[in-house]
Amino acid sequence: MLASKLYAPTLREMPSDADVISQQYMLRAGFIRKMSSGLYSFLPLAWRSIRKIEGIVREELDAAGAQEIMMPIIQPAEIWKESGRWNAYGAEMIRLHDRHDNEYCLGPTHEEMITTLVKNEINSYRQLPVNLYQIQNKYRDERRPRYGLMRSREFIMKDAYSFDADEAGLDIQYKLMYDAYSNIFARCGLTCKPVEADSGAIGGSNTHEFMAIAEAGEADIIHCTKCDYAANIEIGKPGIMKQTEEALKELEVVETPHANTIDAVAEMLSLPLEKTIKAVVFAIEDKVILAIVRGDHEVNEVAVQHAVDGNVEPEMATPEQLVRVGLTAGFISPVGLKQSEEFAIVVDESVMETFNVCGGANKPDAHYININPKRDFNVENIIVAPIRLITDEDVCPTCGGELAKSKGIEVGQVFKLGTKYSEALGATFLDQNGRPNPMVMGCYGIGVSRTLAAAIEQYHDENGIIWPRSIAPFEVVIVPINAKDEALMETSTTIYNELKSAGVDVLLDDRKDRAGVKFKDADLIGYPLRITVSKNTLESNEVELKVRKNGEAINTPIADVKAKVE
Ligand code: ATP
Ligand code: MG
Ligand code: MG
Ligand code: MG
Repeated sequence: MLASKLYAPTLREMPSDADVISQQYMLRAGFIRKMSSGLYSFLPLAWRSIRKIEGIVREELDAAGAQEIMMPIIQPAEIWKESGRWNAYGAEMIRLHDRHDNEYCLGPTHEEMITTLVKNEINSYRQLPVNLYQIQNKYRDERRPRYGLMRSREFIMKDAYSFDADEAGLDIQYKLMYDAYSNIFARCGLTCKPVEADSGAIGGSNTHEFMAIAEAGEADIIHCTKCDYAANIEIGKPGIMKQTEEALKELEVVETPHANTIDAVAEMLSLPLEKTIKAVVFAIEDKVILAIVRGDHEVNEVAVQHAVDGNVEPEMATPEQLVRVGLTAGFISPVGLKQSEEFAIVVDESVMETFNVCGGANKPDAHYININPKRDFNVENIIVAPIRLITDEDVCPTCGGELAKSKGIEVGQVFKLGTKYSEALGATFLDQNGRPNPMVMGCYGIGVSRTLAAAIEQYHDENGIIWPRSIAPFEVVIVPINAKDEALMETSTTIYNELKSAGVDVLLDDRKDRAGVKFKDADLIGYPLRITVSKNTLESNEVELKVRKNGEAINTPIADVKAKVE
């Protein structure tokens, strides 16, 4: 490929709405362009890298015995109603109608569809196990699309689904996928940690997330400094909860002069002390309104005030902050919240059962008492996410070692689903005794486009991207210092052809620009290797070979270039 022909429009200015490094560099270096919130076009540089990641994914999954398929992106509502997720999935699902008024969604994931697909084809234990995957665009109307490709509304996912006759079979598939994932991320050059995770909305019982360690990560993870133990300590993900006006009409309003809800709750509540700490986060848009259920009555005014002011974003409300809010149980409604307004909640299911407290009555100095969230709120879309709170005294549950914290980008996740979907959708097979059994399922996702961004988050410097070679858009760039100089161009072209025929992915920067401009672009785009062809070195039949990663530059005889590069 010649740089003069490459469609990679670079930007001089840093795009103002790009909030993480990967997005900034990908926009500046002409990898991607934004169409609208959370919707991006991949230009040739990004697409080359995406295809390399996909290639690694395919090789590893095929080697693990999975087979690639392609299912429709548009999914009929019926199968989601059968599984019970049409409502449960909530606002994240993009829904549409056809001309006959049939309902559909743009697939956010494919458990329902794959289960429906195989249930009609697999009837006997002899046909199991099966593991099928696809690499496809997925659609999620994220509450806050941001960070470029890291949280977009249309993104590329590899999703795999395994079907087994029993749990033991699932265990084998899970291990195969877990190992395949470890290989995939290692081959992509990522520093990745598999962490224990909660299953969130998807309903699995056993799951690991693969976290690319990076400051820009949205996940809080802990890991042991001595052994392999690592876990996601997420505070849960918000869903949508609506106060039902009906129910709230019947609630008793009490006067609580000058009390905020926390004070009011603290005064009115006498819930038994519990050892386990459970947190409840309410939020309007991105403002946390409420807080927590915990084992003591300590109230921290500062944290509470933060919550009320809406200064704490749900994703940013760390377990520590929640502990600091620390009251026994409660609702805080924000000043001015209308009864019918939507707000989000994250809640532990057991809290939903027992929660029976008070909340702001949307007028000064008054509170509702005896609120029952299940009764008084439309809780259809609540996502239950148990919360693990880690304090400084906590030690590794496996070896007692010290725990360290870091931020992670979830690039993949493996789930043991069990029979949740096969039972709901009737995917049964006949076992050896001729008896029908639900298939035992697993599902396995990789965020392909997010992986691209995660790699940049891990590998960059102030000059630009530093690609791991395996997923770089080009492995090598050849820069003739002066493209108008025929001798330089001739040598460059010879090296270019030689490398190309050796199977190296190489770009020749034949543009007539100044050398400085080309060097800057090479650093920004992040080619792992740069070969500089200049008059000086040519005199001794050498070129300069520069490693982007460490800046090391060595003059190398032209005859040795191929061997050095390979
Ligand atoms: P998150 O916790 O970040 O919202 P998730 O747990 O909802 O992700 P999964 O349902 O596990 O995501 O999907 C499989 C993979 O798809 C994730 O591990 C992630 O890499 C990727 N992914 C999920 N949502 C997005 C998104 N909005 N943009 C880009 N990639 C995504
Ligand atoms: Mg999500
Ligand atoms: Mg997740
Ligand atoms: Mg996940």
